[in-house]
Amino acid sequence: MNQFLTVVGGGLAGSEAAWQAAQRGIPVVLYEMRQTVPTPVHKTDQLAELVCSNSLGNNQAGSAPSLLKNELRSMGSLVMMAADLHALPAGGALAVDRDLFSAEITRRIEAHPNITLRREEIRDIPEAPVVLATGPLTSESLSEAISRLVGQEYLYFYDAISPIVDAASIDTRKTFFASRYGKGGDDYLNCPMDKETYQRFVKALIDAEKVPFARFEKPIYFEGCMPIEELAARGEKTLAFGPMKPVGLPHPETGKIAHAVVQLRRENQEGTAYNLVGFQTKLKYPDQKRVFSMIPGLENAEFFRLGAIHRNTFLNSPSLLGRELDLINRPGVYFAGQIVGVEGYLESTAMGMLAGLSAVKRIRGERFSTPPRDSALGALMTYVTERRSGTFQPMNVNYGLFNVQEMKIRDKKVRNSKISENALASLSRWQEAAHLEVDSAF
Ligand SMILES: Cc1cc2nc3c(=O)[nH]c(=O)nc-3n(C[C@H](O)[C@H](O)[C@H](O)COP(=O)(O)OP(=O)(O)OC[C@H]3O[C@@H](n4cnc5c(N)ncnc54)[C@H](O)[C@@H]3O)c2cc1C
Repeated sequence: MNQFLTVVGGGLAGSEAAWQAAQRGIPVVLYEMRQTVPTPVHKTDQLAELVCSNSLGNNQAGSAPSLLKNELRSMGSLVMMAADLHALPAGGALAVDRDLFSAEITRRIEAHPNITLRREEIRDIPEAPVVLATGPLTSESLSEAISRLVGQEYLYFYDAISPIVDAASIDTRKTFFASRYGKGGDDYLNCPMDKETYQRFVKALIDAEKVPFARFEKPIYFEGCMPIEELAARGEKTLAFGPMKPVGLPHPETGKIAHAVVQLRRENQEGTAYNLVGFQTKLKYPDQKRVFSMIPGLENAEFFRLGAIHRNTFLNSPSLLGRELDLINRPGVYFAGQIVGVEGYLESTAMGMLAGLSAVKRIRGERFSTPPRDSALGALMTYVTERRSGTFQPMNVNYGLFNVQEMKIRDKKVRNSKISENALASLSRWQEAAHLEVDSAF
């Protein structure tokens, strides 16, 4: 095994991974292809380019994204340092001047004595230790190499994300627990609809405003990825015979079969979050909230995440990666960033940071202990590495990933600020115990 670290992809995750290792005295070779090979969305050759919005998300104290920012800061994140230096006024969000932000990161990486930046496309898996952080638009030849390495069925090219709702905001008087034909206990919470409600709902779905597909996102081939509103537009009965079919779901008290049923599937063991089964969608966010509030039980629903469909190369990480973020079958081959199944600029950065630190430990011949589950970094890490039975879909940071039930605090604001407080304290203890201090030379 090499005594230096190879990082492929100079996006948010790759830049952070390279920085974290270099700061701890490990020589790093970072490959970024964009001076020679473009991607369909990047516009510059700068490292850590923000491909779309210039917002790094919610920055309001007590929110999960703000907690993640604070954790990244406390760990010496390069991305957060550049973001804070080039922040713009943006209300409750952290927005940045995108050019100055990327230029800052590029300059710091280029100037780091432990980092060699090579402007090349990597077409095959380099020798370990290597961090693959090539993002949602990984080049074709490398995607093929990854697919050969992990197995075609474990590498996906599209996200079809269903909304996730906060269990505490569901009106359970209108819903009932049951699995279809009684198979599988109470894993599903069902929202039954009568004919009239169903017809109004289908019409609202068809009439709602949609986000158009971007040029590079087309075409969507898979029937399983079909947006709910497109299914609705095929005919009034399509949903009632598809994702909203009521068969096998009699009401436990009346025995009646509803005209249609929206099934909510438990998203975590604690049952604090549920996803709307089969409700991947391209509706605009305000329209999702409006239309989905027509579902009985979800009138006042609060969403941890809304639905989406877009091109995205990502791994079925829980089946492939161990708790050190490398392949169970190829130790030392790490993945980081959006490709591991997180969603968002800072979530990608976080995975870059952890993969970089984990690789440092391996190069030093030590074991990497994962960050605590009650921190945002640990909760994200758990989400992408914990084995599960259902499908795996990319996730952004949200309190649905934390064990919020254990806290037994009903007031959401108080609960969230307690989670944040605990998380930062817990992360700081972990940092100390993990001996991940920055080399004093840097
Ligand atoms: C169109 C689009 C819009 C998005 N908008 C947002 C948004 O507004 N807000 C948000 O929070 N998230 C957004 N995301 C999601 C995600 O946060 C970003 O994609 C983020 O940039 C992911 O970070 P990353 O480091 O994993 O990948 P990237 O930042 O994409 O970095 C990967 C890097 O790897 C390089 N690369 C690829 N293949 C190779 C290769 N074979 N050899 C060498 N280099 C290679 C690429 O050139 C790129 O620089 C968006 C994603 C997409 C696709």
